[in-house]
Amino acid sequence: MVLVLVESLDDELSRQALTLAASLDDAVHAVSGVGEYAPAGWGRSLLEVIEELSPSAVLAPGTDRGNEVLAHVAAMLDLPMAANCVAISPGDPAAVTRIRWGGSLFEDATVHGSPLLLTVAPHAVAAEPVEVAQLRELEAAGGDGMVRVIEHVPASTAGVSLAEADVVVSGGRGVGSAEGFGVIEELADLLRGAVGCSRAVTSAGWRPHTDQVGQTGTKVAPEIYIACGISGATQHLAGCKGAKKLLAINPDGEASILASADYAVIGDLHEIVPAISAEIRKARGA
Ligand SMILES: Cc1cc2nc3c(=O)[nH]c(=O)nc-3n(C[C@H](O)[C@H](O)[C@H](O)COP(=O)(O)OP(=O)(O)OC[C@H]3O[C@@H](n4cnc5c(N)ncnc54)[C@H](O)[C@@H]3O)c2cc1C
Repeated sequence: MVLVLVESLDDELSRQALTLAASLDDAVHAVSGVGEYAPAGWGRSLLEVIEELSPSAVLAPGTDRGNEVLAHVAAMLDLPMAANCVAISPGDPAAVTRIRWGGSLFEDATVHGSPLLLTVAPHAVAAEPVEVAQLRELEAAGGDGMVRVIEHVPASTAGVSLAEADVVVSGGRGVGSAEGFGVIEELADLLRGAVGCSRAVTSAGWRPHTDQVGQTGTKVAPEIYIACGISGATQHLAGCKGAKKLLAINPDGEASILASADYAVIGDLHEIVPAISAEIRKARGA
């Protein structure tokens, strides 16, 4: 049998994980965490279920929670864990295909150990109906290092959350300084959007990490993403490829972001961004 950690049986990403689990074994059992989220505590409880049921594999959706809880279980069992899988062939070792580098490549890998510990890449597997033999509730088991998440406060810019904004005005190293973000903030404000940035910017300390867009930042899906002074590294594009339209502002006509852009202005953002803001004000009669 295989065991799947689910948010709920109706949750889309959990259903995708259940579908991949059913391709391994007909007997699929599910567990769902209840109460306050406690990564190590849920991991300890999941370990108890694993010891009782001896599944051949334990899967979870490749969400922050799924990855975190399974990573705790892997550490407790001293086993490897493969994240973001899209296909699995059982065996010893098992063969998996998983998504790497922010969705830019597939990796074929072998995974040793029993049980197999895998998370399933979100939206990479079509969810199909799966008969679940049993659904158990998982309460956090206490113990050393017990950390509970008691509140989740989404980061927001002027009341608009980056992940949900319809407009994101994002700045990169080309902005030049923390103060340089004044023009980016002004445009975002006029468009009732959120401010984003690249990792070069957070590494320089010009903006907080909560503003970072990309593979190791927030994934955004706005109507329009305005990339100012951003070169277009794959790790950055991994965070904004869900945008419906992309406008790039960059003096370098060879910048790789231009290959992903729907519109581009080749020029200095410090001239172009204030000029766009001025035009918006003029059009609004302000
Ligand atoms: C494991 C890993 C994870 C990563 N995760 C992320 C991530 O989540 N997000 C992320 O962003 N990066 C991430 N990176 C870093 C990524 O590879 C790039 O280094 C980073 O995105 C570059 O940021 P940038 O485009 O701002 O800077 P640069 O690549 O230095 O580009 C600056 C751009 O600004 C332009 N420019 C200069 N002056 C002006 C001006 N006056 N007006 C307009 N344009 C101007 C330049 O022509 C250039 O194109 C990751 C890297 C690794 C290895």
